[in-house]
Amino acid sequence: MIRKTINEITKMISVLNDASPFGESRISGVCIDTRKIRKGNLFIPFKGEKVDGHEYVESAIEKGAAAALWQKDVPNPPQGLPLLIVDNCLEALQELARTYRRQLGVKVVGITGSNGKTTTKDMAASLLSVKYKVQKTEGNYNNHLGLPLTVLNLDEDTDIAVLEMGMSSRGEISFLTRLANPEAVIITNIGESHLLDLGSREGIAEAKLEILEGLKEGGVAVMNGDEPLLMERVSGNDGHYLLQTFGRGESNTIYPVEITQSAHGNEFRVNLSDGRFYLPVLGTHNIMNALAAMLVARHFSLSFEEMKVGLKSVTLTQMRMELSEGRNGEKIINDAYNASPTSMSAAIELVANLGGYAKKVLVLGDMLELGPLEKEYHLKIGEMLDPGKIDLVFTYGKLGSLIAEGARKVLGQERVYAFEDKEMLSREVKKHTDSHTLVLVKASRGMKLEEVVASLQKEG
Ligand code: ATP
Ligand code: MG
Repeated sequence: MIRKTINEITKMISVLNDASPFGESRISGVCIDTRKIRKGNLFIPFKGEKVDGHEYVESAIEKGAAAALWQKDVPNPPQGLPLLIVDNCLEALQELARTYRRQLGVKVVGITGSNGKTTTKDMAASLLSVKYKVQKTEGNYNNHLGLPLTVLNLDEDTDIAVLEMGMSSRGEISFLTRLANPEAVIITNIGESHLLDLGSREGIAEAKLEILEGLKEGGVAVMNGDEPLLMERVSGNDGHYLLQTFGRGESNTIYPVEITQSAHGNEFRVNLSDGRFYLPVLGTHNIMNALAAMLVARHFSLSFEEMKVGLKSVTLTQMRMELSEGRNGEKIINDAYNASPTSMSAAIELVANLGGYAKKVLVLGDMLELGPLEKEYHLKIGEMLDPGKIDLVFTYGKLGSLIAEGARKVLGQERVYAFEDKEMLSREVKKHTDSHTLVLVKASRGMKLEEVVASLQKEG
């Protein structure tokens, strides 16, 4: 994490008061939440809608913070405390991160895309850790606040930082990539998330491509080569960066051959190497994420043997394709972390194609934030189900019921149930499952479908 004297900090950001009386004291790390203060932290208060962090400055210092920022338009800064007065606390945090990043020798990998950012980040970090000291975005800290905090958490001796970059509108990725100045970037895919703000998939592609704006001269850009919206837009690459692609298609730099899927993960070979790779996570879409991570690993000179080791030890954050067992012995894939049409189709495809189960059951809920086409997207998910591969469909929520409507067209009335109540839904599912059943549970985060998983695991 960042370790500086106050005097050094005043050279990194613009401070409006005279901080020289405590200029020699040292800060280590920054913190924005008094509940998480560590000794020596620089506390950064924000004026939120409900609470104003400035009210906690004194308590932060009592708890061990070495100093705090103070936004100049907030009246009555407490006297006698080590405060650095700034125009705007958020901007000061971002500026501090930007300057600190420029001082570090670290190489940055920046990852964006509609789905799979966190997964690909975890995979890339797992691969690169085989050879380097790596730090990565914790959890989903991928925005204008989370990314600067992640940067300020980097140690001076870290070789590579793997940073997730999220967005909901134009200009956000541009800001993050210019701050992080990556040497390698990945665009995982273009989906439909944030259609509401960006209007079209073209708009989404352009917003994701902003990541190139911060890419170092001569760096590598790793992109989903099966996505025409990306390929059309980078074909005129003027040589400032090296373009490498991954995907299913054989024109890509890397593509998979011989995939074997099991209920525990994937085994596959790639066109670039003879070896077999084992990836302990489910779904072919995760092979795509792994391929993207492998191209980055190759850029940082990992051998395919080293990549084998790194992929084997990949672990993902909870609720992403998490496998568990229910009360009736049924296998449950919990993917209730989030959902978009792309990720929903990917998860359904996985379930449809997994061998070894007599019955396949889908429990699907609303996909949120899809904009004006949301109804069509839900209907389509139902309509594209393969009646030969999916046995029963249970939906939860208003939009979810449109999935049911679509599903009835292909599966018939009696194999599709729509609910507005999770308890009733869970009870009905339980009537239909046994140890030969595979159940997929998936919806947007806000639907909290993990509650259904919990009741399937409970007695009764
Ligand atoms: P967020 O925008 O919430 O940060 P994210 O881009 O970080 O999401 P992940 O958290 O890695 O994405 O994955 C979320 C879900 O997206 C997974 O549970 C999975 O169902 C789906 N997913 C992951 N990778 C892909 C992919 N390459 N293609 C399609 N769907 C994917
Ligand atoms: Mg994420």
